[in-house]
Amino acid sequence: MRKKIVAGNWKMNQNKAEAVSFIEALVKEDKPQDVQMMIAPSYVMLDACKQAATDELVIASQNISQHDKGAYTGEVSADMLKSIGVKTAIIGHSERRSIFGETHEILAEKVKQAINNSIQVVFCVGESLEEREAEKAESTVKSQLEDSLFFLSEIEMKNVIIAYEPVWAIGTGKTASPEQAQEMHAFIRSLIVDKYNQHVADATSILYGGSVKPSNAKELFAQPDVDGGLVGGASLKVDSFVELLHSFK
Ligand code: PEP
Repeated sequence: MRKKIVAGNWKMNQNKAEAVSFIEALVKEDKPQDVQMMIAPSYVMLDACKQAATDELVIASQNISQHDKGAYTGEVSADMLKSIGVKTAIIGHSERRSIFGETHEILAEKVKQAINNSIQVVFCVGESLEEREAEKAESTVKSQLEDSLFFLSEIEMKNVIIAYEPVWAIGTGKTASPEQAQEMHAFIRSLIVDKYNQHVADATSILYGGSVKPSNAKELFAQPDVDGGLVGGASLKVDSFVELLHSFK
C-alpha cells in the first residue's frame, strides 16, 4: 500500500546552523516507523542536511532545473542533486508557479528531467480562491495534472507523490476542511484511475498542504485519501514537525 508521508517545505528559511541543528535533533527523536519523513531545505543547505540526516529521513530539493547543464545562471540540475545524494524534488509549488512564472510546459519539462534521472517527484497542484469560488477547483487541478504529469508511463508514476495544496490555504492560516481535502484527494485518485488504473491510484501517495499544523493534522490525516502532508510553517520547529509525524491514527 501507499506510504504515509510528512514532508517539510522550508522555503527560504533556516540558515546552515539552524538547518543542521534541526536535522540533528530530529534524528534523535522518537518517531513512528511507518511514516516517511521528508525535509526540503534550500539548495545551499541540501548537502549539509544530507550529511546530518540518517537514511530514514529523505532530504528533497524545492525545485529542479528542466535543463541538463549549461548557461542557466542560478539553476541546479538533476545531475548536481544526484551528485550529493538528493533523490527527491518538489515540482510545481504554487509559489514557483505564481512568483517565478513556471508554466505547465516548464513543469512538464521539469517532471521529465527528474524522472529521466530517477529523481522522485513531489508534484504540487491546487486552485486559487477565485477558481474555487467559480467552482473551477476540480477542473483546475485536472488540467494541472493532465498538462504536466499524466504524460508519464505507469511505471514512471511509481516515482511520483502528488501534493494537493489549495493556494488560498498556503501560508494563510486558512486550512481546507477535512471534507474539502478528502473530496479533492478522492477526485485526484479517480483521475489516476481513469488515466492509469486502480493499482497505480492505490499506490500513489497524495499529500495535503495548506496551513497544516499539529492542531488540525489528525483530522486531515484521518481522511481515507489523505496520505499525509506537505507542510511549510509548521515544519520549521522540531517539536511541531515531530507532532505531525505522530498525527496518523
Ligand atoms: C507549503 O509551503 O507547501 C505550505 C503548505 O505552507 P504552509 O504549511 O505554511 O501553509
